[in-house]
Amino acid sequence: MTVATPARLVLLGGGHAHALTLLAWAPMAGLDVVLISPQREACYSGLVPAWLAGRIAPEALTLDLAALCHAAGARLVIDEATGLDPDRRVLMLAHAGALRYDLLSINTGSTLHAPAHAGPVLALRPLPRLLAEWPMRLAEWQRGEGPIALDLVGGGAAGVEVMLAALHRLRTLRPDRAVTPRLFCSSARLLPGHNAGVVRRAEAALQRAGVQLKAGTRWQLGDSAPGSWLLWAAGAEPPDWLAQCGLQLSADGYAAVRPSLQSTSHDNVFAAGDSAAFTPPLGKSGVRAVRMAPTLAHNLRAAVRGQPLQAHQPQRDTLALLALPDGRAIASRGHWLAAQGRAVGWWKDWLDHRFMHRFSSIAHQAP
Ligand SMILES: Cc1cc2nc3c(=O)[nH]c(=O)nc-3n(C[C@H](O)[C@H](O)[C@H](O)COP(=O)(O)OP(=O)(O)OC[C@H]3O[C@@H](n4cnc5c(N)ncnc54)[C@H](O)[C@@H]3O)c2cc1C
Repeated sequence: MTVATPARLVLLGGGHAHALTLLAWAPMAGLDVVLISPQREACYSGLVPAWLAGRIAPEALTLDLAALCHAAGARLVIDEATGLDPDRRVLMLAHAGALRYDLLSINTGSTLHAPAHAGPVLALRPLPRLLAEWPMRLAEWQRGEGPIALDLVGGGAAGVEVMLAALHRLRTLRPDRAVTPRLFCSSARLLPGHNAGVVRRAEAALQRAGVQLKAGTRWQLGDSAPGSWLLWAAGAEPPDWLAQCGLQLSADGYAAVRPSLQSTSHDNVFAAGDSAAFTPPLGKSGVRAVRMAPTLAHNLRAAVRGQPLQAHQPQRDTLALLALPDGRAIASRGHWLAAQGRAVGWWKDWLDHRFMHRFSSIAHQAP
């Protein structure tokens, strides 16, 4: 595939893969690179539990997309996709309307659909909303009186981390107010996909925090008492607009890609991170998105130049580090790694801060 220049490459979404692609990008003559993002900043989810627990400031988990674009010679357009016509090569945007592209790369992550509930509901996605709403809930918590029930739905790693972090913060702020926490998990055991040693450690951490674990229980409307707080961390879902986008999708609704991260139906569309459905399927995680970035960056340049594309070689299993609010963490990988302690917490902090540090040199270059 060769793209005639002048041409336009549209990067849709400021996810991990696009942030790293921009970081490595050198401008190409005749190529107009446009990043579409609903916000000027992108959030790094690995640090969300630390922020919820009150260990770090919100600025510590955001990446400045405007500065990244400036350094890469790209344009940032604050907008969001609402549709796509891949045969006409047109992206539909909520505010700017139709945007023509020659090459499109999708890195819009996944989303969560929290249900209505007669009480505060906090969904873990979209992250910018969580960043705005959590401080409001904390202010309410500090002003209020009496006990509350706190229900979290979702038995994955993010659910466990967020339950422990939120509890820690609420109890630290108001030790005089009681919280009764429950964690609902529809699978028979907590943390599907993680090994037994990790599950045991996570269950013990929840137990120490007084969390009632309701494994094998699918949360239903009415399970949480009116007025209780509901944290929604159940199952990542594809964004709604992908369903009608005209690209070939996987059974679970994400953009089906080849090893080159090219859409299986359209050569000039790429997808990475949670948006992409690889064969065989890969877990949805930030680590996976980060690992796709070098292949994506290479292949987007190669596609413009008509050069051969590389195949992404996914790791069979990836490292997950579950943050505990006291600074410790649980390490998990495949069937073999289950470890917990302060050293694991330092390891997680080091990896997270190393990731963020890669962006700090360009953080002050925005116009
Ligand atoms: C609390 C929490 C903690 C987590 N911790 C970890 C962890 O420690 N390690 C790990 O590997 N994974 C972790 N995950 C999972 C991880 O967040 C995701 O798998 C990862 O963010 C996916 O990255 P991505 O690059 O696909 O997209 P994302 O990082 O989700 O970014 C997508 C971007 O696209 C933008 N966007 C969305 N819709 C549109 C649209 N229509 N138009 C334009 N832009 C759009 C969004 O604003 C966002 O900036 C965690 C998740 C949560 C919720």
